[in-house]
Amino acid sequence: MPKVRRVPQRQCVACGQVRAKRDLVRVVRTAQGDVRIDRTGKLSGRGAYVCPETACVDRALGEGRLARMLEREMPDDIAQGLRDAMARPAPQRPPMVHRITLAQAAESRERSKHRGGLL
Ligand SMILES: [Zn+2]
Repeated sequence: MPKVRRVPQRQCVACGQVRAKRDLVRVVRTAQGDVRIDRTGKLSGRGAYVCPETACVDRALGEGRLARMLEREMPDDIAQGLRDAMARPAPQRPPMVHRITLAQAAESRERSKHRGGLL
């Protein structure tokens, strides 16, 4: 029986939604006291999470939620970095898989049936 792997989950500071940790953007206040966007999820320090969505990032920054969570002012470059991160998805994400719809699948099956006779 395959072991069920528990996916670590975290809560977005803006919308409060609990999501898989890897689906959220982590912002960390390091032991040195500076704020970083943690793309690897491995930086140690106090972390806060936000959905990789403009609405959540704007809210997290705009309402000072991230700042409150991390007890640090958000530097402009972090705010900018978060907004930039929204523009291009994290590089470690698997590529999007193109799924054909059932209708398309049926159609292509139909087509290959017809073609079959000619081969
Ligand atoms: Zn959110």
